[in-house]
Amino acid sequence: MTTKVIKNGIIVTPVHQYKGDILIEDEIVKAIGKKGEFAAVKAEFIDADGLYVIPGAVDEHTHMSMPSPDTYSMPWETETIAAAVGGTTTIVDFAIQEKGKTLTEAIDTWKKNANNNTAIDYSLHIAITDLNEDIIAEIPSAVEQGVTTFKLFMAYKDDKMVDDATLYRVLKQSKEVGGLVMVHAENGDVISILQDEYVKSGKTEPFYHAITRPIEIEAEATRRAIALANITDAPIFIVHVSGEEPAEEIRKARMNGQAVFGETCPHYLFLDDSYLQLPGFEGAKYVCSPPLREKTHQQKLWNAIADGTLQTIGTDHCSFNYKEQKHRGIDDFSKIPNGGNGIENWLQMLYSYGVKKENMTIEKLVELTATNPAKFMGLFPKKGTISVGSDADIVLFDPNKKHTIKAETQLQGSDYNFYEGFTIEGSAQHVFLRGEHIVKDDKYIGHLGQGQFIESKPYGAAYDSIRTNDKGVV
Ligand SMILES: [Zn+2]
Repeated sequence: MTTKVIKNGIIVTPVHQYKGDILIEDEIVKAIGKKGEFAAVKAEFIDADGLYVIPGAVDEHTHMSMPSPDTYSMPWETETIAAAVGGTTTIVDFAIQEKGKTLTEAIDTWKKNANNNTAIDYSLHIAITDLNEDIIAEIPSAVEQGVTTFKLFMAYKDDKMVDDATLYRVLKQSKEVGGLVMVHAENGDVISILQDEYVKSGKTEPFYHAITRPIEIEAEATRRAIALANITDAPIFIVHVSGEEPAEEIRKARMNGQAVFGETCPHYLFLDDSYLQLPGFEGAKYVCSPPLREKTHQQKLWNAIADGTLQTIGTDHCSFNYKEQKHRGIDDFSKIPNGGNGIENWLQMLYSYGVKKENMTIEKLVELTATNPAKFMGLFPKKGTISVGSDADIVLFDPNKKHTIKAETQLQGSDYNFYEGFTIEGSAQHVFLRGEHIVKDDKYIGHLGQGQFIESKPYGAAYDSIRTNDKGVV
């Protein structure tokens, strides 16, 4: 690989921004210097004048080629190219344990799907769906294989849902080896009854997806997961927090000193439940779980980000076609595949509507979308930062570039876009993956297979306070 110098840009970290030049060699950031410092180096020079130089985003929450009843979400091939062009250089995807199979089999299946088919680097979580003694015993081996985060679904009864005993046991076992438990917090038992009641009474339209998953369903499960984590003294990470009440549960537990952390997603910040009421069957495009909430929750989530209740943003990218796939639920909302897209546009949306409209700083954007995800998922400092020795995953971001999001011009594979019609001001202009120029003037120039599996390390950021307490230090 040729030596490269990114010059004249504004380098952004979670704590500051400064003008500097970056020397890239052998896939990593070799040195960071003052303007012109590397002028004499024999290198390819990339001029970042007027651009922000930010670490490639780390999307900790994606579902590529994920089995959903009778179908699969969009594959690595399309979605990781879309991710790259949007400024994401690492994803952490959820490998799902099939019933009766081992964790290692799930990891192998996911690696087989990803290897040679991914444009960007990836790491894995594993979703445990079928626990027994052998699986408990396998948790340390998953950690040794570089998979240190364990996802448990408290929703999707008769599919991926686990019971409280499973949640308790996995929390306990994973803590022994520095693993982090992540939960999808919704009460799946009650959802399943509500869905039956509504469908039987002829209420089958997409909007009833949200009605049968009220926010109390999410708040209760969040509270329960936090309580079980407290009993086991394990850290816990609540994914896709959708509104005020579940965020409040996290806030309360954190104020009590518990190691509880949370993520929200761009769609909860920018979309609301009115999208589920679009005419005809269009609302199906916006069926995801937890569901989109009333608009008033958006400000509560911004507040929860600002006050540190929530530490990260992930896309929960799990994309299906409207035609054919979403249409499986035309007569019954409970059969609509759950999920939407966002990986191509999330940084643009967060910059345009977060930094420019909500007074969020670009430093905070970097923290939420790169540094903190890498820290919690055991990938830091290899990923999530521009520091000497880190992978040269770097985005040159043009803060003024305008466009309107349209499904017809997107790279994502699906036939619609969550953010259709939103106007954008700010986009990735160049993207480097371990020093390779993979997006040039907002066009993808890399090739599939460039992405590598990245092992995550145990005892990520969720353990920082726990270790401190163990030492008796306040
Ligand atoms: Zn998800």
